[in-house]
Amino acid sequence: MPYKGEVASKHGHSEILSNPDVKNFLNSCIDVPKPSIEELNAHFRSAKQLDGYDILLPDLILAMDGSSYESPVDGRYPSRMIGYLKISTVLLDMAKYENVKRSTTRFIDPIHVAKLQKETGAISLALPGAFVQDPNCGSVKESYRCAVQNYLRSPETELGGRTLYNTLVQLVRYLGRVSLVDSVECIAFKTCVNKVCSEETPKNPIFVGVDSGVGSCSLCGEKVYACDVLRTHEAFVESGSNIEAYNRLMTAIEHLLNAHYLYYLWKENPDYLSRMCILMDGPLAIFGQSAHLHRAIMLLLDDIRKDLFRRGLHEPVIMGVTKTGRVCEHFSQIDYLVPRNTVFPISDEYRYKFIEPTKLGSEKNFGDETYYGQDIFVKTNKGRQFNLCLSYPFASKRIDKFRDEKVNLKNYAQLRRALSVIQTLESELYENSMIPVVLAHRHASISLKPGGKVLDVLSRGAFSS
Ligand SMILES: [Zn+2]
Repeated sequence: MPYKGEVASKHGHSEILSNPDVKNFLNSCIDVPKPSIEELNAHFRSAKQLDGYDILLPDLILAMDGSSYESPVDGRYPSRMIGYLKISTVLLDMAKYENVKRSTTRFIDPIHVAKLQKETGAISLALPGAFVQDPNCGSVKESYRCAVQNYLRSPETELGGRTLYNTLVQLVRYLGRVSLVDSVECIAFKTCVNKVCSEETPKNPIFVGVDSGVGSCSLCGEKVYACDVLRTHEAFVESGSNIEAYNRLMTAIEHLLNAHYLYYLWKENPDYLSRMCILMDGPLAIFGQSAHLHRAIMLLLDDIRKDLFRRGLHEPVIMGVTKTGRVCEHFSQIDYLVPRNTVFPISDEYRYKFIEPTKLGSEKNFGDETYYGQDIFVKTNKGRQFNLCLSYPFASKRIDKFRDEKVNLKNYAQLRRALSVIQTLESELYENSMIPVVLAHRHASISLKPGGKVLDVLSRGAFSS
């Protein structure tokens, strides 16, 4: 243990490594797993072989990014707590972006930037936290569930007359949980939301009307909200920090919003949708209690893909970009082995061998319960690395040879356009994880409409193009 202020000697490290005992010991140990050049060559495919990807840029990029906060309300403890979620969205017109890039002036009007910052949080949601109880609710937890439902049904989330709630019901429909009970469309819950009741009683399904959005358990009387299908309340605590529940909810809403835009544009203007790229910060995956919704999103995307194909249109590019995590760490460690201008779909075999060796030999699909996209490592010709996650071109993971098919790049018709987005935006994507905020701030002069305004822009765009 060094004394305070004492700095470890820089020589210590090399002295230890040159010690013959240590050397012998290390030589007897198994080396860090890393791929050989041959193994990498077998996996890598040069992006150059994907002819003409640079001219296939989508016309519009809709970028999304969420953040969450938790804050005490009272100046003393124990304090009531409030949660706050914000989802920033920016619609970027690539033709205008290219013009700005080509122009020599990079001047951004500071007043415009300040205005943008104010507008960025337009899609936002305040949530009850510890000790915050709505007088109309039986508990703090119910107050939280009720607030989530009220938000999803609020006009703020409306797009073409449909709220986020309608889109959530649509996803639940894909999961086969909506049926007619006495001529009323209902969502089925296998168990009660009251944990004690669900553990003690036989599994009686509870039906919640889609229109009313509220039902109740016939055994304990607990109210059941339709939005409880998100299940984020399971991580909610009545007297402590709820950062986990808020983060789970934020991710679920981000992906729900993705489905909301897609569904709306598909129904209103498929041509507009086919020229679009939806760019999310992070993988195309829903973690935690809401993870089951990823299956519904896969089914929705498949319906959209097939319908656009019938109309002679291409599917939109749906992608996530990640710059942290194990995949990125792995590739930055072996950067010297990886040639520039390459694209590398990460197979489960490769991942379990080199990236997550604790899962070596596992037969389970990576992200089986969570992902609706495939991780593809990209190293650009400028040497920048990205973990791109591109939506699976399949309705489900239960298809023949899914494990092989998901890493077959020929199945990803939108790959070239995804690569062109990365190549065009690489400096913006590289610098900051707050993609929409960066885009908005950097290109304020070409006026992107952030936050809730995007809903208006999309509505107008869908009708005017
Ligand atoms: Zn009950």
